[in-house]
Amino acid sequence: MRMSINRQNTHIIPTRFEYHAPTSLDEAIELLTEYGGDARLLAGGTDLLVKMKQRVVEPRHLINLKMITGLTGIEEKADGIHIGAATKLRAIERSPLIREKLPLLHEAVRAIGSVQIRNMATLGGNLCNASPAADSAIALIALDARVQVKGAEGDRVIPLDGFFVGPGKTVLSPSEVLVEIVVPPQGRSSGACFIKIGRTSLDLAMVSIAAAVTLGDEAVEDCRIALGAVAPTPIRVREVEAFLRGKRLTDEVLEEVAAMVSAAIRPITDVRATAEYRRTAAEMLTKDALTRAAEEARRRRG
Ligand SMILES: Cc1cc2nc3c(=O)[nH]c(=O)nc-3n(C[C@H](O)[C@H](O)[C@H](O)COP(=O)(O)OP(=O)(O)OC[C@H]3O[C@@H](n4cnc5c(N)ncnc54)[C@H](O)[C@@H]3O)c2cc1C
Repeated sequence: MRMSINRQNTHIIPTRFEYHAPTSLDEAIELLTEYGGDARLLAGGTDLLVKMKQRVVEPRHLINLKMITGLTGIEEKADGIHIGAATKLRAIERSPLIREKLPLLHEAVRAIGSVQIRNMATLGGNLCNASPAADSAIALIALDARVQVKGAEGDRVIPLDGFFVGPGKTVLSPSEVLVEIVVPPQGRSSGACFIKIGRTSLDLAMVSIAAAVTLGDEAVEDCRIALGAVAPTPIRVREVEAFLRGKRLTDEVLEEVAAMVSAAIRPITDVRATAEYRRTAAEMLTKDALTRAAEEARRRRG
């Protein structure tokens, strides 16, 4: 079968575009407002440039975020850990603060692509690309993260589990920029677990899960569970979380939880896995992730 070279991921970007390198957020928002749907923000380019090479998207204006100061960095404040949207995944992976305070995010970021990809890719790009399989997204949902957004209409804060609308779609308007991600402090008796099944270590997830569990004496006091690649967006299974509150993680409870997760997800068959595989794997991963998160919570509590 013959395919046009431009349908493949070549080194060539086949379309013409104008390149902009604003030095302030306000300037970037002005450009977005002026060019609307014809413009795309460029962060690390590891998703966007691939899509442009394949002509999946053909923006007439590229607005690079790299020259804007204040969009990168990791800082602990009273309300949690703030991560600039343009912070490279590799910087997050190597951050002692993230490793110590948010090991779940550390694990999830480490699972993304290769070192070369993580050296280019940003956290904001991983979220705004809105892949149902985005690894950082499920970890951040399980950590109850919120995102700070700035646009022509002003600033707003959005809980991350309300950020994704569909594959490749978020609640951001065309003039809005994701500025930072804020993860609230996690309790001392909280434990978390990230598990991803991929065809290779470089590939997107076939199924993934992030679970954060806070234990009371032995029963679950609180928990958040998010799954990737089993629905049109990364999903949080709130009904399962509600069911678990006040319960011990016995074998019977875990079986019930697996059945509830199976009912909540909407997996599809694609090049990576069948829907049946995804469903079975999601059930297994849920049991494993909750068990391991609870073990971690006990260990941290001492
Ligand atoms: C070989 C390979 C392997 C990969 N493996 C994985 C993997 O295992 N797991 C995984 O989750 N992903 C993976 N990816 C996808 C990709 O690397 C990540 O999603 C990455 O984090 C995207 O970040 P970026 O900075 O490169 O985004 P870009 O490509 O620059 O941008 C992505 C999208 O987000 C928008 N955007 C970027 N920043 C902002 C912002 N601040 N505000 C508003 N919109 C913004 C852009 O306009 C664009 O639409 C892989 C990609 C490749 C090429």
